[in-house]
Parts: sequence; C-alpha cells; structure tokens
Amino acid sequence: MVSTFPTAHSDRLSQIRWDIRTLHPQLVEWRRHLHQFPELGFQERMTAEFIAQKLREWEIDHQMGIAKTGIVATIAGKKAGRVLAIRADMDALPVQEENEVDYRSRHEGIMHACGHDGHTAIALGTALYLSRHREDFNGTVKIIFQPAEESPGGAKPMIEAGALKNPDAEAIVGLHLWNSLPWGTIGVRSGALMAASELFSCTILGKGGHGAIPQETIDAIAIGAQIVTVLQTIVARNVSPLESAVVTVGEFHAGTAKNAIADTARLTGTVRYFNTDLADFLPQRIEEIIAGVCQSHRATYDFNYTRLYPPTINDAQMTDLVRSVAFAVLETPAGVVPECQTMASEDMSYFLQEVPGCYFFLGSANPAKGLAYPHHHPRFNFDESVLCLGVEMFIRCVEKFCN
Ligand SMILES: [Zn+2]
Ligand SMILES: [Zn+2]
Repeated sequence: MVSTFPTAHSDRLSQIRWDIRTLHPQLVEWRRHLHQFPELGFQERMTAEFIAQKLREWEIDHQMGIAKTGIVATIAGKKAGRVLAIRADMDALPVQEENEVDYRSRHEGIMHACGHDGHTAIALGTALYLSRHREDFNGTVKIIFQPAEESPGGAKPMIEAGALKNPDAEAIVGLHLWNSLPWGTIGVRSGALMAASELFSCTILGKGGHGAIPQETIDAIAIGAQIVTVLQTIVARNVSPLESAVVTVGEFHAGTAKNAIADTARLTGTVRYFNTDLADFLPQRIEEIIAGVCQSHRATYDFNYTRLYPPTINDAQMTDLVRSVAFAVLETPAGVVPECQTMASEDMSYFLQEVPGCYFFLGSANPAKGLAYPHHHPRFNFDESVLCLGVEMFIRCVEKFCN
C-alpha cells in the first residue's frame, strides 16, 4: 500500500492524502463490520442504522428512510456554492460466502459479494473527512446511501423521493470497486460505461400429442429451437458491427416425456446494449422473430419485455474532472484505464439521467493475495488498501468541483 501513497511531497495533495491515510484502520473496521452483517435490497435496516449512528456521532445532517432504507447526508462547506452528490450503494447478494476470513458473513446465504460494503465504508470515510474539513471547500456535498442496487433497484425510488433535491445536486460522482482491474488502477471512461439491462420471456403455444404422430401436433420444442437460432442473427446481422449488443437466451423449458410432443415451451433471456438508439429496435426485432417463426408453424405465443436499468452514460465534462483527479491521485497516467466498458449494468444510470456525472471503477484485485475472484462469486473479496484511494478520489472531486 505504501508504494502508491508517497509522502515526500509537501503540497496540499500530500496533506489530503496523509489525513485520509489516518482513516485507513477505521475504513477497514467499518467495511468488515458491514461485511459480517450483509442485507438484501430494501432490507438494509442494520446497515442504515450503522451509517446513521456514525452520522449522528459526527454531527452530520441526514435524512433516513428515503425509498425505505436509503439515507442522504448533507455536508455544507465554508460558503454557499455548488452542490455535488456522491453515491454509494449498500445492499448485498443472495450468495453463500465461501471465504475463510474472521469477518465472514454471519447472515446465512447472504454476502457482500459485489463490494458494496466497501462502497459504504468509502462514503462514510468521505463524510467524516468532509465534516472535519468544512473550511476546505465551498458549496454542499450530498452523500447518497442507496438501497437495492442488485435488485430491484433503489436509485429510481430515491430520485422520486427527492434525494437529488433541496439542495439540488448539480452533478454526481460514484465508484465501483472493480476486480477486473488490479489495485492501483482507476477505470475512467466518457460516454457509455455500462450497458442497459433488459429481460424478455416468451411462451410458445403449440399443440401436444404422441411423439410418433407428429402430423397431429404443433411441436413447441422444434419452434423454440428455431427461435433461439434466429434470435442470434439480431446482433450478427441487424446491429451495426460497430455497436455492442447482447441477446442471450438463458432458459428453455419444455416437455415432460421422451415420447410426447410438447405443447408449450418457455424461453427467457437478457438483452444488453450501450446505445439508446437500440432501445426500441431490439425488443421489436425479438418479437418480430418470435411472431414470424410461430406463425410459420401455426403456433401462437405470449411475449413479455421488461426494462431493468438503462445504460450508464458518463458526462464528458464530469469525466474530464474525474480523470484529472485520478491522474493526480495515482500520480501516473498509466494507472488510469480508459478501456473499461462492461456489459454489466448499474442503476447509477438513473442518477446520471438526472444530472451530469461520472461513475468510475476503482481497481481492487490483488492476485498475489488471492483477491481476484470476480464480483458475485462466493469467494469475492478485494484489496482493502484501495479504500483510502476511494476516499481520496471523492475528496479531490469535491475540492475540484466545488472550489
Ligand atoms: Zn453486483
Ligand atoms: Zn455492485
């Protein structure tokens, strides 16, 4: 850790860094506490109480119970000025932890397998630092502790409950600990960072019958198999090769006996894309193919399409700000990774639809310490030395945006 935090400088950046480094033991303690008591989306009651208790102790204004378990903390600086929001999510996943650490999850079948315990600790560290250094910035910082990122989505209800209002946030920043990148790197990208996430389901309604008398049936399995194949032509032949999109059939359920023809087949799948121009085209094309194949075989169908999260799109100016902060924090341009797009999705996207902002990845893998499992894996864990780096990124963003 020391190697990325040189202390020989006497400038202000070094002072901030030194002050933040003193928070390291607390950041680890908070993160490990949260890790032991993970809670699923909209059930983050112990988590919210833990956060609120710290905010009360530090005399930071805050409002609880926003979108059930969300919290917004408000920290005013020296003088009135611009308003920046910082977002952290705090929910865990229905995963049984397999890590053998003394702070392993004590909640059966629930685990902080995405690093949101780290996000909450970083946001708490940022709140503590800012509340102790109000003279160093103008304006106001709103720290948003959001429930239910993994599902069903807490960002949208928090926005609807006014989390970005009064005072009105002018911009927002947020980070995700990211095990696809090594510690000591930061992924920053203008435009689309993460994809939209959408779901479809389709039930093919054929006509069952004897496996040896097919002429009297409409075989839902044969029709479903064709649909799966033709759906693959959407990305291959209907979407520009210069665009990215995914159409995945994840489930295919049909049939009950080896000598019977199935009357129904149920397919479900996920759709991902970056470019919102594809938002209407993809579901339209999927249904056209299902309808066309079904019609050609005299079957009918039920089709449902659900939009989960929109693409996560970073604002160019806010990305420039975050990138320049990342250069300063890492002290090397090489650590700032521009090619960090992923087809995973995030409901930070809803905040970015409301105000310009930048979501970035804080590299957190450390294979030498065995900390390189992917997010959502039962052995996911990250290098805690990057918690300080996260706080420093946020503090520097505040000073740059607000001053
Ligand atoms: Zn996740
Ligand atoms: Zn996550």
